Amino acid sequence: MSVKENLLHIKNHLPSRVTLVAVSKTKPKDVLLEAYEAGQRDFGENYVQELIDKQAHLPEDIRWHFIGHLQSNKVKYIAPFVYLIHGVDSFKLLQEINKQAVKHNRVIDCLLQLHIAREETKFGLSFEECEALLTSDTFKLLHHVRVRGFMAMASNTDNEEQIRAEFSSVKQFSEKNTAFFSEPPLLSYGMSGDYQLALEAGSTMLRIGSTIFGSRNYA
Ligand SMILES: *Cc1c(COP(=O)(O)O)cnc(C)c1O
Repeated sequence: MSVKENLLHIKNHLPSRVTLVAVSKTKPKDVLLEAYEAGQRDFGENYVQELIDKQAHLPEDIRWHFIGHLQSNKVKYIAPFVYLIHGVDSFKLLQEINKQAVKHNRVIDCLLQLHIAREETKFGLSFEECEALLTSDTFKLLHHVRVRGFMAMASNTDNEEQIRAEFSSVKQFSEKNTAFFSEPPLLSYGMSGDYQLALEAGSTMLRIGSTIFGSRNYA
């Protein structure tokens, strides 16, 4: 199947609340253009260098989502144009995004990454750490970042009940914390292998790569 067919196949089944982010890491620009020509505008990238190279050469109305683990010293490269930063997992990073946003006279939208998987290796804040951040006085001073919701990755397992429970825990956490948001919080969870479960658990943003573009040679 072509990229276009893959996209349409996914999109035909999505509720209107859901944004599909096409995860295009490692894929060449002409493949992104194929998706663009099929109407796709939201693209997700994991690596700063790759993102700035693609952004410079592809249409200006693409909304670039940074979905990887962002190092503070690299924020400056994406601050001029990034649409949404998904994986914010520390106050220090948020502070740096704020600083770079000031320089570009922007307010940068961010999602706080929650650690829900059982694996040790995945990044993210615990629910307690996340709540502490949202309620801190120092956070309130950052006027150039806007936390729009939460991002999470489920455990890499075949156990659907576990995945469902992990996604639902994010949904519940967001419902408990709606007071921090002026609009309904964005919930970014669901990848190629688990997006049906993510949708059932209230996801509003899917990050799908291999189901659209085919498998990758490296993660
Ligand atoms: C690579 C990646 C995805 C997409 O993964 P697929 O399994 O190819 O759909 C989603 N989210 C993050 C954070 C990723 O790194």
